[in-house]
Amino acid sequence: MQPIWNALVGQTDVVEKLSRAVNDAEKIRVGESGPAMTHAWLITGPPGSGRSTAATTFAAALICPLNGCGTCQICRMAPVGGHADVEIITPSGLSYGVDEARELVRLSSLAPIDSPWRVIVMEDADRLTDQAFDSLLKSLEEPTPHTVWILCAPSVEDVLPTIVSRTRHVSLRTPTTKDVTELLIDTYKVDPAMAAFAARASQGHIGRARGLATEEASRTRRQSDLRAAISLRDIPSCIYAARDMVTDATTAANTRADELDSKEDALLRAAFGIEEGSRVTGSSKRSVDSAKKQLVTHQKTRRKRMIRDEVDRSLVDLLGLFRDILIVQLDSNLELINQEMRPAIESFAARGNPADTTRTLEAIERARASIKANTPPQLALEALMVSIKDPRLASVHTNMQ
Ligand SMILES: [Zn+2]
Repeated sequence: MQPIWNALVGQTDVVEKLSRAVNDAEKIRVGESGPAMTHAWLITGPPGSGRSTAATTFAAALICPLNGCGTCQICRMAPVGGHADVEIITPSGLSYGVDEARELVRLSSLAPIDSPWRVIVMEDADRLTDQAFDSLLKSLEEPTPHTVWILCAPSVEDVLPTIVSRTRHVSLRTPTTKDVTELLIDTYKVDPAMAAFAARASQGHIGRARGLATEEASRTRRQSDLRAAISLRDIPSCIYAARDMVTDATTAANTRADELDSKEDALLRAAFGIEEGSRVTGSSKRSVDSAKKQLVTHQKTRRKRMIRDEVDRSLVDLLGLFRDILIVQLDSNLELINQEMRPAIESFAARGNPADTTRTLEAIERARASIKANTPPQLALEALMVSIKDPRLASVHTNMQ
């Protein structure tokens, strides 16, 4: 197996399938048959399982002269969007529109610049609108000879059936706690006890595990979210808990968004040859302005989405906490996700019952769904905190609606 695949944790089957495709891609280039390779792929896997890593690693391996050595310039740059023949795209809004799809069709018709393939990695293919997909369909079915499409989505059920029928499907599984622990120790040099905690707390989400293991702020935030949810006394404490959760999620998202924004701003300046702080005049001003405007719109939408994603992570943490509470209430021997909080979990569990905890778990899923459907996070979380405080009342209220 080529070293570049080390980035993909606990996905032996997928790695095998994709590296065989890379080898066959080479055969196809010299005119032989290569049945393991095809021009359109669909990679699915739960959030944090390494969907994007699988897609971008595959892309890099296809264009690396050594089929994914893991060390050359191509292997290092292509997975982060730093190669002209690998296009990594994410929807600029909540979904992919027709204009974005048309631009992709144009791009996919171009020959690669300095490698055997032009690879288009489409993240969140579940956010393709029907119309956008219609404009893509032909390029996906009969692409130009050197174009490879790699579409990513959470699951097959999330994407249009027409996509499934026109792509070869590869499915990632949720990495085990053991896989994630080993990754943290081997690759990120995390101390074993911390690695074990972060792997357990992340519930198989690799990016989340890395954050918890390496950033104290992430651990503190998680801890305060969980503590708040089991210390709700009255309505004001529900409102405060919701507000704090949104504020912390926003801060975390903003930090990451600022970083991405400034990188892109620098790329834009470089593309137009503008030095930092200088002003653009004359005929190029219009195209600079228009590019800037487009970028700013994209950055704003992304920032909003990142805040929602951060809030969703907190909600997944709450799901884990109340799952633990249910385990204690049912006297089950399963290992707790939040083992280090056992005393607090036991005392909360003793004050409630499994039926209430189940209602709370449902309320958390409702909150996630409503935020996904565009409800402002603050509102959704306030409603959630009130139902956590009083699960039966909230459930009566929901049933009356
Ligand atoms: Zn390489």
